[in-house]
Amino acid sequence: MNLEHINAVKQLLSKPQKIVIVPHKNPDGDAIGSTLALWHYLKKMGQEATVVSPNDYPSFLKWMPGHEQILNFEKENAQAKEKITEASIVFTLDFNHLGRIGQMESPLKESAATFVMIDHHQAPSDYAHIMYSDVNMSSTCEMIYNFIEYLGDDDKITPEIAICIYTGIMTDTGSFKYASTTSRTHKVVAALIEKGAENTKAHNLVYDTNTPSRLHLLGCALKNMVILEDYNTAYITLSQDELDTYNYQKGNTEGFVNYGLTLSGIRFAVIFIENKEEGIIKISFRSEGDFSVNEFARKHFMGGGHTNAAGGKSEIALVETVNRFVSILPDYKEQLKP
Ligand code: 5GP
Ligand code: MN
Repeated sequence: MNLEHINAVKQLLSKPQKIVIVPHKNPDGDAIGSTLALWHYLKKMGQEATVVSPNDYPSFLKWMPGHEQILNFEKENAQAKEKITEASIVFTLDFNHLGRIGQMESPLKESAATFVMIDHHQAPSDYAHIMYSDVNMSSTCEMIYNFIEYLGDDDKITPEIAICIYTGIMTDTGSFKYASTTSRTHKVVAALIEKGAENTKAHNLVYDTNTPSRLHLLGCALKNMVILEDYNTAYITLSQDELDTYNYQKGNTEGFVNYGLTLSGIRFAVIFIENKEEGIIKISFRSEGDFSVNEFARKHFMGGGHTNAAGGKSEIALVETVNRFVSILPDYKEQLKP
């Protein structure tokens, strides 16, 4: 974030504002952690602020301090729309184009507010007046820490802010193991623990709240895994019937795609999840090394993300989607070699 942007934000926040903070659709730990951390901070600075999420988020995040005040645009539509209409500033966190917020896209496009983007994904679009975009960051949460520090307020980080930021860094870095984890990430995490983030509590509440049905769904996903040795690729499918059989709840498939990469020699892992209600197949892509799943998702599956973690979708049936995916792989045979 350059000095000009920092000063512009300082200027904006020197007056009382009506602020709306927005995560992407199907928010994950980083999206909820960053929006709540910023919400706590802005409230502490005396601002009026509300987090408006495009839709619901997983129950393993529903312990984070401040989560009760999040407005769900799908369920609390009138109230959410009113907040958006009234807003003088909109912060958009953990995404960088308005196509990532579903039905919230049109009210936000009509808004006359000043937009501030804080995000670590590739290829940002240009809707924001103030942009803090850095693809080298582990998480949007790490950027929120920097943002507060840039404003000279790191001494104002409370234990609530600290645990929200900690949780988002933890989930987006696979508990501090992905390549995006830097020495700076660890320094930020150390500072957060000093400021009162209960680190073990965050791990327990996010990762140790499995249900038998989720573990059975994982069993089903692992049984369905197909390994394509010629392409160092492993993919998993989950049909709507399978999800229904194991009483699927939002967030239950989080992390499943990563199992493919734990196989020795596998560089590309994919999961295809049927969503009959939305009429789409939601796809997650993961890679090891320099094979860019961001480019792959962008080019073939209406998606995007990061070099090693991206998402996308398909509007044809599950079996056809998988067939299409398999038919594309020969073009990447060289890139997928170890
Ligand atoms: P996941 O597979 O966990 O849903 O997402 C992996 C990464 O890709 C996340 O950083 C997420 O924000 C991004 N991502 C997921 N789905 C999409 C999508 O449909 N479009 C874009 N541009 N990014 C996505
Ligand atoms: Mn993120």
